[in-house]
Amino acid sequence: MATLEVFQFPYMSDNYGVLLHNKDTLETALIDAGDASAALGALELHGWSLTHLLLTHHHSDHIAGMHEIKSQTHCKCYGPQGIDGVDKVLSGGDSFVFADSEVQVLHTPGHTMDMLNFYLPDQSLAFTGDTLFTLGCGRLFEGDAATMWESLSKLIALPPNTWIYGSHEYTQANAKFALSVDPNNKALQQRAKQIDQLRAENKPTVPSKLSDELETNPFLRPDDADIRTLLKMPSEPDEAVFAEIRKRKDNF
Ligand SMILES: [Zn+2]
Repeated sequence: MATLEVFQFPYMSDNYGVLLHNKDTLETALIDAGDASAALGALELHGWSLTHLLLTHHHSDHIAGMHEIKSQTHCKCYGPQGIDGVDKVLSGGDSFVFADSEVQVLHTPGHTMDMLNFYLPDQSLAFTGDTLFTLGCGRLFEGDAATMWESLSKLIALPPNTWIYGSHEYTQANAKFALSVDPNNKALQQRAKQIDQLRAENKPTVPSKLSDELETNPFLRPDDADIRTLLKMPSEPDEAVFAEIRKRKDNF
């Protein structure tokens, strides 16, 4: 089984799209379709032909270019129920094969109720949409904190060496917030410095390793004793601590 080539490209002010390509089968997948010209430009840059389009959720910065991309490439579109133009509707627990690699579909509602994430176990890749970001998590537009915590718990359970591809470059702001609830975390302090350095050079902070998120992303750490002490929530359930962290981020 070939290792897929991964090409991440920016679009709009802070979005990322990703192309996956198998050089043996010549199949190519695009994760999310907010900007047709950015996606088509990335394909042209590599000379790749799009065969699969995978959509995470219905927000326009993830789907606005879908019809144009489909008409230009004749790819097959996979995504959640309720989006006009999806050829193959997916649900949590589904799996399919892309370019000889298994793609497992995780339903991770919270930001939106339709949110799907895509996990490729053979490639150690997870595309987490607007559910999990580098040092952050998505805002709760449609679901509540309990729903989001359950969704994040599915991602926490993936192997720690999984590469997490969130859809946005929000990391510098996320790092500032993370330090406000977990100020004594040495790994986080070090990471915040690396992030400032990367952004000063205009380099992406996405993807990140799940193992690093588990050590430094406060939204994955409601069980942490120091965070609980700071929040004065020593014995509340993880879900309640998560809800408090999410609320503080909304008001940060
Ligand atoms: Zn969104």
